[in-house]
Amino acid sequence: MSVKAVIVGAGMGGMSAAIALEQLGIEVAVYEQVTENKPVGAAISVWSNGVKCLNHLGLQKETAELGGIVDSMSYVDGFTGDTMCRFSMQPLIDEVGQRPYPIARAELQLMLMNAYGYDAINFGKKMVAVHDGDDRATVEFADGTTDSADIVIGADGAKSLTREYVLGGPVARRYAGYVNFNGLVEVDEKIGPATEWTTYVGDSRRVSVMPVAGNRFYFFFDVPMPEGVPFERGTAREVLAAEFGDWAPGVQTLIEKLDPATTNRVEILDLDPFDTWVKGRVAVLGDAAHNTTPDIGQGGCSAMEDAVALQFAFRDHPDDPLAALAAYQAARTERAGDLVLRARKRCDVTHGKDPEKTAAWYEELRGEDGTNIIRGIVGNIVGGPLT
Ligand code: FAD
Repeated sequence: MSVKAVIVGAGMGGMSAAIALEQLGIEVAVYEQVTENKPVGAAISVWSNGVKCLNHLGLQKETAELGGIVDSMSYVDGFTGDTMCRFSMQPLIDEVGQRPYPIARAELQLMLMNAYGYDAINFGKKMVAVHDGDDRATVEFADGTTDSADIVIGADGAKSLTREYVLGGPVARRYAGYVNFNGLVEVDEKIGPATEWTTYVGDSRRVSVMPVAGNRFYFFFDVPMPEGVPFERGTAREVLAAEFGDWAPGVQTLIEKLDPATTNRVEILDLDPFDTWVKGRVAVLGDAAHNTTPDIGQGGCSAMEDAVALQFAFRDHPDDPLAALAAYQAARTERAGDLVLRARKRCDVTHGKDPEKTAAWYEELRGEDGTNIIRGIVGNIVGGPLT
């Protein structure tokens, strides 16, 4: 039986799924509401599980070329600049069998789009409705056109319309209590060593840099504050200088060097895990299925895992799309939900939900030799379709 899939959303989840399904010979049509590749956000940390998925999609060389080299990790006292702990990433790499790669988001996105075929993506197509049917599922676009296929995969992100359809109504996301400022900046060792993931912590805040290719750091600042505080794009330097004025010299250098015009500000939300990902021939994937805080850097990796799991489900049920989607759901909901809850837990400790727990964490960091942190990260990495 020849299967056709419509994928809505050309983010990292949708593009990974498009490549994964095409590897099986499934005909894929991708629809994306924006008119060009312009992702929000500067970079992501693709942990070893995500890298294994990209390798599986045939992108081993390209991924390694775009990835920053993280040889070590450190935590630094945000106020004094004293190192709390520093340790090698090698034990992690040895244990899981793959180096992680932080990658600039636009470059990761473009790599996936090119692997599928940039010109084959239907840009400027905003889905406004999706319906299941006996033989086909159908999507409708804002321009009045439609497309039908054996399956529709809604990889339409955190505010997914497909999710609304699958669950039978809208669900409310939860504000996680902090705002994340992020961007790219030229490597400067006054901020942190060039091959280290350096994190300054203090006062329930976090300032972090990690290398991506091209002698650049991906940086981010986490600032707890109420939801809805107004912000004018381009003013990040003033805002961060006011928030972090008494922080260590490395943080001041970062604030001076960042480009306010390209610094993003994102309010962080997540969504309680849910187990219904499929309604007949319509399924959700990526943030549409599991919207997480970025506190363990697993949202995108989990979307890539979804794509590989979807491929395995169709490999095992090549002639039965309904069975394949059921197998996909069965393979993914527990694992993805676990990552959302792990991230929420880390988020709360990092951002002072209970200040005593945050203070205890800072004390732990001062006595850490890396063993506990690496154990925690390995716990996030293992458990996906490629383990
Ligand atoms: P998206 O990337 O949101 O893509 C969805 C696409 O669907 C978009 O292109 C959108 O335009 C399109 N779309 C939406 N609605 C429609 C419609 N109606 N019609 C047509 N198209 C539509 N993850 C990690 O793995 N590691 C990290 O280090 C990390 N850091 C992060 C830091 C921050 C600050 C944030 C906010 C997230 C981070 N993440 C990280 C999470 C990661 O960004 C997401 O999990 C990932 O982008 C999800 O990919 P996706 O394809 O599901 O959704």
